[in-house]
Amino acid sequence: MTTVALKDVTKVFRDGTVAVDSINLDVNDGEFLVLLGPSGCGKSTVLRMVAGLEDPTSGAVMLNGEIANDLSPRDRKIAMVFQDFALYPHMSVGDNIAFPLKLAGIEPTPREERVTDVASALGIGDVLPRRPAQLSGGQRQRVAMGRAIVRRPGLFLMDEPLSNLDSGLRAELRAEISGLTRELGVTTMYVTHDQAEALTMADRVAIMRKGVLQDVGTPTQVYNRPATLYVAAFLGSPRMNLLEASVYVHLDRYVTLSLGDQALYLPWDDIRSRAVAHYHGERIVVGMRAEALTPVAPDTPGDVLQGRIRYLEHHGHESLAFLDIGATAIMVDEAGAPPDADAPLGQRGLRRFSQVMQRFAGRAGSD
Ligand code: ATP
Repeated sequence: MTTVALKDVTKVFRDGTVAVDSINLDVNDGEFLVLLGPSGCGKSTVLRMVAGLEDPTSGAVMLNGEIANDLSPRDRKIAMVFQDFALYPHMSVGDNIAFPLKLAGIEPTPREERVTDVASALGIGDVLPRRPAQLSGGQRQRVAMGRAIVRRPGLFLMDEPLSNLDSGLRAELRAEISGLTRELGVTTMYVTHDQAEALTMADRVAIMRKGVLQDVGTPTQVYNRPATLYVAAFLGSPRMNLLEASVYVHLDRYVTLSLGDQALYLPWDDIRSRAVAHYHGERIVVGMRAEALTPVAPDTPGDVLQGRIRYLEHHGHESLAFLDIGATAIMVDEAGAPPDADAPLGQRGLRRFSQVMQRFAGRAGSD
C-alpha cells in the first residue's frame, strides 16, 4: 500500500522561478490521481519531488505517512514513465522489461516468468525478441509501462506518457493504463495537460495554475462545481459560458438575476436561487455550460433569455450555436433542440440553465 501527502510543498529554482507554491495534496492508497494544468504550471516538478529527483525548497513530501524528503529515489519503491519512453535501444524488448529485475538480483527463471506475465498483460508477448526500433510508438509505450510495473511498485508516476502518440492510440492506451493500474491496485500520479485524458482516467483530478493548486476533486466535481473561476473557464470543451450578472433577493421570496438588459426571475425554492441568494446586491459571474441550455421558440414562457444567433458550428454529433444576448456572446449545444429549432437564424429564444444553477457562481472580478 502507498499513500502520498504533500504538506505545504514549495519549489523555488536557483534562478528564482517559483515552480510550486505551497501545495497541499493527499493521494490515497490505490487512487489514480491526475495532475492537470497548462504547460509550465509546475506539474512535472511536483512529480519529480515525489520521485525524489528534485528536493522541495520547503515543506514535506510524505510517503505512507512518513517524511520522505531525505529518501533517495531508489528507496521510494516508485516506478516512473516519461513521454519519451527512454528504452535501452541495444536491448531486446524482453531484456528492457527484465532490466529492473536483473538490477534487483532476481534469478533468471522467475525473471523470465514475470516478464512473460507482464508482456502478455500488456499485449506485447509476441514482440519480446525485437529491439525498440522495430516497434510502433504504442508498442514502445507498452514496453515502458511493462518495465515500470514489473517490480510491482507501490507508486506509479507518469509524466505525459501518451503525448508522443497519435490521438487514436492515445485513447486506446489511456483506457489500458487506467485499467491496468486499477487491476494492480497501484497508487498512481499521472501528469497531463490534456483535460480529456484527465477527466476520463482520474479518480480525482488536481488542477494547477502557476505553481498553485486550484482545485481537487472527482472529474464530476471539478467539472460541475469548479472551485475557482480559472477552473470553470479551463475545463470543458466548449468552454463554459461565463456571464456577469447582478443578484437581487426580493422579500416576497424570489431572486432576480440581471444579465445586461434581460432578467431571469427564479422562484425561491429553485436550487439556482439558493446558490446565488447570498450575493444579494452584488455583481457575480454565472457559469452555464452549453449542454445545459436548451433552445426554445422565442415566445416560450418561463425563465427564457432572448438571443440572436451569430453562427452555428456543426461538429457531427452536435451543433453549437453562438448567440449574442445583449452585449454578451454565449454558446448553446443544439443537440436537444426542439423541432422548431429550424426557425431562421437569429429568431430563437433560449431557455436558461435547464436544471441546476450551473455551476459556478463567484464574485465578479474574483479569480
Ligand atoms: P510542461 O507541461 O510544459 O512539462 P509543467 O506544468 O510540468 O510543464 P514544470 O516542468 O514543472 O511545468 O515547470 C514549472 C516551472 O518551473 C516552469 O516555469 C519551468 O520553466 C520552471 N522550471 C522547471 N525546471 C526548472 C529548472 N531546473 N530551473 C529553473 N526553472 C525550472
